[in-house]
Amino acid sequence: MKAIQVHQFGGPEVLQLQEIPTPRPGPGQVLVGVRAAGVNPYDTYMRNGTYAIKPSLPYTPGSDAAGVVEAVGEGVTRVKPGDRVYTTRTISGAYAEFASALESQVHTLPEKISFAEGAGVWVPYGTAITALIHHAHARSGESVLIHGASGGVGTAAAQFARALGMTVFGTAGTQKGMDLAKKEGAHQAFDHGKPGYAEEIMKATGGRGVDVILEMLANVNLSSNIKLLATNGRVIIVGNRGEITINPRDLMGRRGTARGFTLWAATESELVEIYAAIGAGLENGTLRPIVGKELPLRDAAKAHVDILVPGAHGKIVLVP
Ligand code: NAP
Repeated sequence: MKAIQVHQFGGPEVLQLQEIPTPRPGPGQVLVGVRAAGVNPYDTYMRNGTYAIKPSLPYTPGSDAAGVVEAVGEGVTRVKPGDRVYTTRTISGAYAEFASALESQVHTLPEKISFAEGAGVWVPYGTAITALIHHAHARSGESVLIHGASGGVGTAAAQFARALGMTVFGTAGTQKGMDLAKKEGAHQAFDHGKPGYAEEIMKATGGRGVDVILEMLANVNLSSNIKLLATNGRVIIVGNRGEITINPRDLMGRRGTARGFTLWAATESELVEIYAAIGAGLENGTLRPIVGKELPLRDAAKAHVDILVPGAHGKIVLVP
């Protein structure tokens, strides 16, 4: 099969399209014929060798695949060949024509969700849902600022928060991104490149502040986030690419919380809730993955460049 292989950590050029043996599903494993693979920012950190999880080399990147079950190993009962599925992790890597996964890592993809959309399910929705439900303990009627609402996690969070009955504020760095944030659920959108936009958000809350902030770039925004919180407000750190100084007093006066998490560390019981919420949302149409760009698998290096360029518009997916 064709697969992207990484033989050494480094820049996008280390992503090479190669012919490698197709994996055979062992007991309890599923072989998925990949129709699309989602590209996530963490794929680039892992490729660089700077991520907390360092795979042994060579490896095929990617956790988020959508496709059709090709074969199942002994003891697999939840899926059968021909089923449409998306993956939450894989054993062999998603940037490939086929990916092996544990049975527990494979979930039903409803007919109305395309394979490209299916490749944008797990990391974006898993992250958005656990951030809002398990970490922010968000409630209907509260307000949320999705700080970076134009990308994979941000659009997913906007859809979910709106369906939950929250007042949703979103930011993006382009008009196109702000339009997308509004289309996907934000009641109001703001330009995070415009001086004074934080004051505009505060004004939009009537001076009360926001209850929840989902932060995509904490090293830039955490200090100003805290000043935007309502009493008992929570900043949830989703993304971070460096260090920042904050004044803890800004949290104290507001009884505020700043909390980080990773999707990888979700507990078994949290995972059950996330899968259920994703399944229901995909079925009833409140969750609709946004695919901004489809590239052929051989262009994985370009995808890794594009995902870090400002001007996000939903997901980038690779098509084998
Ligand atoms: P993405 O699709 O590349 O989107 C990035 C988002 O960040 C865009 O909306 C972008 O807006 C926005 N952004 C850029 N500059 C910003 C700024 N100064 N202030 C606020 N937002 C800004 O990435 P993603 O998949 O949504 O992931 C977002 C971040 O979360 C990444 O750092 C990723 O690694 C992290 N993440 C963490 C977890 C976890 O488990 N904690 C899980 C998934 C993702 P414009 O492009 O419009 O400027």
